[in-house]
Amino acid sequence: MEEDPETKDILIQYESSDGGHSVNKEERVDLAILSIGMSALPDAQRLAEASGIELDPHQFCFTRDFQPVETSRSGVFACGAFTEPKDIPDSVIQASGAAAKALSVIGEARGTLVRKKEYPPEREILSDEEPRIGAFICSCGTNIAGTVDVKEVVEFAKSLPGVVHVENTIYTCSADS
Ligand code: SF4
Repeated sequence: MEEDPETKDILIQYESSDGGHSVNKEERVDLAILSIGMSALPDAQRLAEASGIELDPHQFCFTRDFQPVETSRSGVFACGAFTEPKDIPDSVIQASGAAAKALSVIGEARGTLVRKKEYPPEREILSDEEPRIGAFICSCGTNIAGTVDVKEVVEFAKSLPGVVHVENTIYTCSADS
């Protein structure tokens, strides 16, 4: 690239291919943004073999233009930069498409393994009963545990009056927890 000293335009010289012949070209632009290239995952081959799908000649997952999340194997769907160079927003959109496709295969089974939670029966608490307090100390993954000595907090909570149960949890606000 060179700058035109008078207009400050950028002159780009590049090599293109035209019917198999390389051709030198030049273009004049206002602004040029250089971006690094993107290549397939180094272990794409291993992933393809493990899931029984084909890759394209560039080692990206083989997909078709009008079935962009379908792989060569029925029931296996792909998305994101595994299928071709792709940015994050497009990958997220495509991931929704792949998830929807997967649901179309396994949708009937949805909810069939769900067990209804059974809780202890509720009872009336009498005003003269001692309070029974449960303390759940959350590590927030490592957000809190990286700063606070959670074990010590647990021990301290155990020493408080009325506390009958203390537990250290990791992601307390998640549905699984
Ligand atoms: S309850 Fe959720 S947000 Fe709160 S500390 Fe635990 S994981 Fe973090």
